[in-house]
Amino acid sequence: MMATSPLLRSHAWQVALGRLLLLLVAALLLGLASGHPASAVLIALSGYTLWSLHNLRRLQCWLYDRGRPSPLPDSGVLSEIAGFMQQRHQTDRQRQRRLVQQLQRYREAAESLPDGVLVLSNTRQLIWSNRAARRLLGIHRSRHRGQPLDRLLEAPAITSWLHGDEVEQPLLDVPAPGCPEVRLSLKLIPYSQEQWLLVVRDISTLLRLEQVRKDFVANVSHELRTPLTVIHGYLEMIETENDPEIAPMVEEMRRQSTRMTQIVEDLLTLSRLDADGGVNNQRVPMRSMLNQLRGEADSVSKGQHRISVECASDCDLLGSAKELHSAFSNLVTNAVRYTPPGGEIRIAWHEHDGVVQFCVSDTGYGIPAEHLPRITERFYRVSTSRSRDKGGTGLGLSIVKHVLLRHQAQLLIESEPGVGSRFTAVFPAQRLLRAESGADRSRRNAEPGNAAP
Ligand code: ADP
Repeated sequence: MMATSPLLRSHAWQVALGRLLLLLVAALLLGLASGHPASAVLIALSGYTLWSLHNLRRLQCWLYDRGRPSPLPDSGVLSEIAGFMQQRHQTDRQRQRRLVQQLQRYREAAESLPDGVLVLSNTRQLIWSNRAARRLLGIHRSRHRGQPLDRLLEAPAITSWLHGDEVEQPLLDVPAPGCPEVRLSLKLIPYSQEQWLLVVRDISTLLRLEQVRKDFVANVSHELRTPLTVIHGYLEMIETENDPEIAPMVEEMRRQSTRMTQIVEDLLTLSRLDADGGVNNQRVPMRSMLNQLRGEADSVSKGQHRISVECASDCDLLGSAKELHSAFSNLVTNAVRYTPPGGEIRIAWHEHDGVVQFCVSDTGYGIPAEHLPRITERFYRVSTSRSRDKGGTGLGLSIVKHVLLRHQAQLLIESEPGVGSRFTAVFPAQRLLRAESGADRSRRNAEPGNAAP
């Protein structure tokens, strides 16, 4: 059912119509009595029209004169219209006041956020900023409004990121403009068609804590290294052949000290990877790398597995030979350790669509899907007892992930419990080096400090 408006429901129209009819009847009667009925009706109608026009004018004055309220027109229909409009106006005013208060509250909340927030236009002009943003970026609220942000900031890292292709990725660990000891992280979020939100966070404390943690792990590992070497050395010297009672104890102590030494070595490797700035880029000859890995796989397997190596690309890698060897070797020894005797291990190096891949697949125990997202975390193991039995430290895949990250490579893991696993390191085109010609190789070998691989 259609809702009728209050105006249509009101009796004012009936009253107005009744008045008009009464006027017409009175005019007609008077006209008949005076012998000029038509003139009397015409005069009455003209009077009524003039009176209505007068009331409309009063309504108009009242509407235009809202600031200095003049009396409301008191004629029926028009006074109802005026009353209705006044009511609407008051409701609108109240709503407006509420909205302004709400906006004010949001602004105050945004102003006092601990993180810096800036509203930027599509062309990166500053529209609005909160207190923390002004403090962290050294900008002025009113003086800098409307100006391009890159012109306000003396921070080349931030400005090139703002105009670069990787703006969807947050910018981490950049010095604050004018205050290099404060480290910032920035994230740009599109929030309407024309505006962007730039969130700036002070991550100095977080980075300091992270550094304290790294230093602590590195120092502890370093301090443990010497005593462990001594203990391990003495344990190796103990003769147990003539003392069968202590033989199993010494054997267990040797096993545990080897494990601890391996954990310390892996922790030190991770600390070095954390601390090292850039990768020491050099040509890493993949053919000899694969031969070396094959030898390592054979020595861990001790002939219990079928091991094959496929070198389907003659490309080499650009990167750190030591780091890459450590990552690949971890993948290969894991494949051997987590594959029961009689299983198969394939090590492959191939090129596909401009990217090169190092791939290790096995027919081993496999990894249940729920463990895959966390498998590269430090000390994360699927089965702690199996890892210990196989001499694992829980740090191997962390090292792999770290090394690959430093080489802009990706680690893909596919696995099915009971069927096997495949670990693939995918390297970007910029890490790929075409095979050297004989002349290139002899030139490289002739350079001081370069030995033939
Ligand atoms: P660990 O020293 O324990 O082997 P890693 O970081 O190298 O530590 O590996 C983490 C865990 O991932 C291992 O404990 C093991 O459960 C699982 N894992 C790694 N590689 C394989 C594989 N090829 N097959 C099955 N499980 C694997």
